[in-house]
Parts: sequence; C-alpha cells; structure tokens
Amino acid sequence: MNSGIHYHFADADFEYSSAVYTLFGIPYDGTTSFRSGTRNGPRIIRELSYNFESWMHEAASDLKDIPLYDYGDLEIGVLPEDVVLDVMHLVMTLIKDKKIPILIGGEHSVTIGAVRAVRPDWYLVCDAHLDLREEFRGTPYNHGCTTRQVIEDGVPHVAIIGARSGTWEQYEFAQKRVVLYTADMVRELGIARVIKEVSEAVGNSRVYFSVDADVIDCCLTPGVGTPEPFGLTPLDIRDLIRTFAARIIAFDYVEVCDFDNGQTATVAVQLIREFIVRNWLSRIRS
Ligand code: MN
Ligand code: MN
Repeated sequence: MNSGIHYHFADADFEYSSAVYTLFGIPYDGTTSFRSGTRNGPRIIRELSYNFESWMHEAASDLKDIPLYDYGDLEIGVLPEDVVLDVMHLVMTLIKDKKIPILIGGEHSVTIGAVRAVRPDWYLVCDAHLDLREEFRGTPYNHGCTTRQVIEDGVPHVAIIGARSGTWEQYEFAQKRVVLYTADMVRELGIARVIKEVSEAVGNSRVYFSVDADVIDCCLTPGVGTPEPFGLTPLDIRDLIRTFAARIIAFDYVEVCDFDNGQTATVAVQLIREFIVRNWLSRIRS
C-alpha cells in the first residue's frame, strides 16, 4: 500500500506489545504565534515516510526489523495545558510499558508534557528560538515557553543548539541557566567540536532530545511557522542524533508544517528514522 492516506508511519509494523519504540502524533497548533499549520505535521510526516527504502545502508539495518509501533494521533483538546497533560499521561503509560516514546508534533509546547513524564537528566534541544519566555499571550504553555517550562519543572541540565532568536531577557536567562550553542557558534566552531563538548558534559546521563524543525535554515526547509535563516543543516542534526542516540530515552520532532514542497517533513522523516536505527543498534550491541 503505497498510495492514499497512510494511517501509520512506514515500516512501523509491530504490535504495541512487542514494540520497543512507540511513535505518536500530536496534531496541535493552538498557541502558534506567526503562522499556524503544525497541526498537519503528523499527517505530512507519515505520508512522506513512504518515500524511503526500509533498508538503511549506512546503519546496515532494515527498519522493518526494528520493533516500532505507531499509536496514531493523540486525541487533543483546545487549551495548551490540557494538551500538555494528555501528552504527559500517554508518555507515562509508554514508559511504564517500557517503550521509548517518539513524539511527532504539533507545536513545541507538546514537549513539556513528555519531559514531565520522562524526567531526564539532560534536555537537549535543537531550535532556532530560545523558547525561554516565562509566559506568552497569557499562558506559560505557549510554544515560545517550552524550554523555560522544562527548566521550571526541574530538569537539571539543558543545552540549546542552533538558536538565533530570542529577546534580550531570554539571552540573559540563558547565560545563567543553559548551555547555549547559537547557530553562529556552531558555524564558527564546527558541529563536531560542539558535539564533542556537549557529549563530554552529558556523559552517560539520560537525555531527552527535542528537534524543533525551525533549527534548520529556512532556506532549506521552509515548512515552519516561525522561519529563521542562518541556521543549521540537516546533516548537523543527523550528526547530533547519531552521537546521542544511545543516551536518548525519549525523542520528539516538532513544528513541521505542510505548506512547503515537503522538504521539511522529508528531513523530519529521515531524522526520526536515524534516531530509531541508531538507538536500536546501541541496544543490540550492548
Ligand atoms: Mn521551539
Ligand atoms: Mn523554534
């Protein structure tokens, strides 16, 4: 079945009971500030997942052999606090059932619920935006507040990679509380050096890894609600995922919209697959 509507991610052919990875969509964009459309992220990502071969040659692995289950989309409410709570409850269930959660957004606020459920040592986020606002447009669950909420919730270590947008106050706050590699720093140091430094800081800690699609330069992947140029490349993010995959206990890919020619979702699919296959290899080899 390679045409029509796909209700699940390609090659996610396992049952829940035998799955190690459980992917689910959160078609929510209730607090988006500039352009909406991330509610269509899960749909377009699933659709474009059928573009690729299940065989991943560089990893010498077939995605079909990896125990991956697609839960479908979470039924969601209107208010961001309700969505955050629903995400938290589902992720708590997944963890209880020993699944590795993979979230497909939806806007970035959905991450807050997942991080609350997972309680990682480190929160690594790739994002053009600092997302360190205390509140925005009347709610601390706005998608511009995600990283701040994660910190307020008590996650001890936070690293933001690829940022190039935030208010003066947010940069001030970041200086005190966050390991920050701006997009310009990544360009100056090179992604390998950044990865080495973050990797040494993280050690063997449990990592929650969040990719906001707008971290990638909007000239490459324009399907995002709040586009920013001068960003990272898909290869930078792939290098990060390959390095941290073994330490990642939950993964999300958020803020993908469907109004480009599919570039943004296509990159998302490949990076989600990259996480799954690299994490799986680390498990079967250890
Ligand atoms: Mn964000
Ligand atoms: Mn962003």
